[in-house]
Amino acid sequence: MSVLPDISKDVTNVLIFVSDALRWDFVPSSIKNMGITYKMISSSLYTASSFPSIFSGLYPPKHGVFTWEDALLKKDHGLLNIPGVNTSLRCENTWVDMGPEDSQIHRLCGKPAGTPLDAIEEPFVYIEDDKGGHCPYGFTFEEYGGGGCFEFFKEYGGKERKELIECYRRGVRESVKNFDHRLNTLKERGLSEDTLVIFTSDHGELLGEYGGLVNHGRPPCPELVYVPGVFIHPKLDPKEVRDNIARHVDLYPTVLDALGKSIPTDLDGVSLFDHAPKDGFSFQRGGHKKEKSRLKSIFRYTANSVWDHHGGHVFHGLGTIRAKAFFYAKILLQKHPEFWYMRESVKDKDLITRYKTYQKAVSRLSKKHIIYDGPDLNKEKCLSNLKDYVKSIEVEKNRETVEMDEDVEKRLKSLGYMD
Ligand SMILES: [Zn+2]
Repeated sequence: MSVLPDISKDVTNVLIFVSDALRWDFVPSSIKNMGITYKMISSSLYTASSFPSIFSGLYPPKHGVFTWEDALLKKDHGLLNIPGVNTSLRCENTWVDMGPEDSQIHRLCGKPAGTPLDAIEEPFVYIEDDKGGHCPYGFTFEEYGGGGCFEFFKEYGGKERKELIECYRRGVRESVKNFDHRLNTLKERGLSEDTLVIFTSDHGELLGEYGGLVNHGRPPCPELVYVPGVFIHPKLDPKEVRDNIARHVDLYPTVLDALGKSIPTDLDGVSLFDHAPKDGFSFQRGGHKKEKSRLKSIFRYTANSVWDHHGGHVFHGLGTIRAKAFFYAKILLQKHPEFWYMRESVKDKDLITRYKTYQKAVSRLSKKHIIYDGPDLNKEKCLSNLKDYVKSIEVEKNRETVEMDEDVEKRLKSLGYMD
């Protein structure tokens, strides 16, 4: 295990390309071959709390953004607020029909500038949220007849699973093209030698695994937690895949280090130029909006997990019986869009097959402890690491909230968010 070679003398700018919802096992080798590649642990399983971890170098319990209505405190703006460096956050093809600084990601982190890559002045940190592997796969939102993710999954639930996977691959190919355009822009501006490029994702994507789960948000599993972390620069050896991991929370300190800036001491992440992390956390709590009713908070989905290169331990917080009741109510009574794909895929099957399918999904969402693959860490060690981490957090009481207007609600629904 080793650290990234020192390139700080050759880095003036940083470009972070977030190919949204791109899971590790679907990262094209053309991308992995461009630089030094890490399997990266996403701090959360959906955009609203992953991006704040990328910006701040903190896990969600510390930065406090779990829903689209939580504001990231100014002191945690991190990557978007590096003294003497121009910053931009672009969401061109994810938050369509909105001004460049109007996306809900902009709103929850203080409305940073949304300057295009060909216009931002050096030195800069440019971060882009590209549609990547986000639903509706392989279609722009306009192309999919104005319909959103839920309609898309319902339609594909009635088809062979391989068709869903093929669409996903097509979406990823589009994202790679967009990334190539950005690399070309750097080349045209003569900045390729001075820019550290990082290709990553905010979370992965489920493609019908575990009985027919799709989209992202829950449960923690390799398909959602492992994302790419590719570090590209002329001085970094291409085609090198590391056997340790990197984490979202390492991005901010790593970027600071590359730019020759000092790193705050209270971050959860470390600079990959100095450290080779072995494991990391991922946290998920509740839905996309703040719970306003007591009943909803009683049934709040909570999952903490610990991952290394080889697998992870997931701990559900809701209690198995309550969680089962919650999810069966969603599937059977509410017929919630979250499970439209699964329902549609078994609707012509007999009762026992349908029940077994639902059971498979519900057990992934409710079992107290689940092990995925073969992590080096054992259960007790993971629990004590999580406990120590949570103990170290000072609870912020008066957290600010951000407004969510009708346009944003509509956009969130089409992106597949609905409590
Ligand atoms: Zn996302």
